[in-house]
Amino acid sequence: MKILVTGGAGFIGSAVIRHIINDTDHSVVNVDKLTYAGNLESLASVSDSNRYAFEQVDICDANEIKRVFEQHQPDVVMHLAAESHVDRSIDGPGEFMQTNIIGTYTLLEQARAYWQNLPENQKVNFKFHHISTDEVYGDLPHPDEQEGELPLFTETTAYKPSSPYSASKASSDHLVRAWHRTYGLPTVITNCSNNYGPYHFPEKLIPLMILNALDGKPLPVYGKGNQIRDWLYVEDHARALVKVAAEGKVGETYNIGGHNEKQNIEVVTTICDILDELVPTNSSYKDLITYVEDRPGHDMRYAIDSTKIKNDLGWVPKETFESGIRKTVQWYLNNQEWCQRVQDGSYQRERLGASS
Ligand code: NAD
Repeated sequence: MKILVTGGAGFIGSAVIRHIINDTDHSVVNVDKLTYAGNLESLASVSDSNRYAFEQVDICDANEIKRVFEQHQPDVVMHLAAESHVDRSIDGPGEFMQTNIIGTYTLLEQARAYWQNLPENQKVNFKFHHISTDEVYGDLPHPDEQEGELPLFTETTAYKPSSPYSASKASSDHLVRAWHRTYGLPTVITNCSNNYGPYHFPEKLIPLMILNALDGKPLPVYGKGNQIRDWLYVEDHARALVKVAAEGKVGETYNIGGHNEKQNIEVVTTICDILDELVPTNSSYKDLITYVEDRPGHDMRYAIDSTKIKNDLGWVPKETFESGIRKTVQWYLNNQEWCQRVQDGSYQRERLGASS
């Protein structure tokens, strides 16, 4: 299979590409604009493969996307390119509307034109896999507010996004469903919980806490730190995504989660405990925890029911939160150079210098 991956230089996209090159026979064309979140250094271990190609292209650029489809003739599209950071979407939503909505629309239109012109034998196998988030469902009742068994997000939960980011992703999901229903484009959608693991950009909770702790800086926790997220190790997500791209049923949605509901404060204290063990200092890293004003509109709880993908496609996560977070902390300790080059911006400067 030749897979066109958008956003392949990002956190999850790069894990998908490393998995495809290392563990399958498929080939990949990575279409990425290289925003601040795109880092080709995350693909250094696979970029020499003759099954890997890179195109620095904005998904909003219809002519370039058309050229990429014609030149590379993909069998499957895995669409991950997005603006992905909720706090940035609150500070400046415009870029999120542009990439997540207009970009997805542009990609759908070019995919449709390409797919309609494919010979029949290729046309029946083509698939457009849209990668989305559980944040489109809004939030769920929190155990501090409701007793008894609490509900989980399923594939039929109604959409109720809270942030500009999740609203833009909800819009993109609706576009994908409409292109399937109206034009028959063979699409499949996955909605996943919070990912963590290697190569995560240090603005996100887990890498931010690890790197701040190592620098002796405050560990900022929003509100009371009692917001609940369902954490999934990124390599488990990458395996799920490639399985859905290959075997997922057209027109279906699959929710992907790790069954690891944790309060943010629990995540931060777990990281501190692991660092206290691996890099001991005179005091505990927990002393660095600082509570800061909560994010506006902050969702209180996300939790995924991933029964469908387990039953239909046989996917289960390999990592527990305890094993995955330990691996993640160890990865950041072992890859200080990658972190340093992201933190000082050299991953971008050298890339820009090289291409200009
Ligand atoms: P990321 O921010 O790390 O990476 C996004 C990538 O998209 C970057 O490489 C960036 O350069 C590229 N990109 C951005 N705008 C582009 C454009 N206009 N054209 C081409 N490329 C562009 O994001 P991520 O965390 O890897 O998330 C990937 C996808 O998975 C997103 O669609 C996100 O909504 C979804 N998702 C993420 C999580 C999570 O926990 N990170 C959870 C569920 C779903």
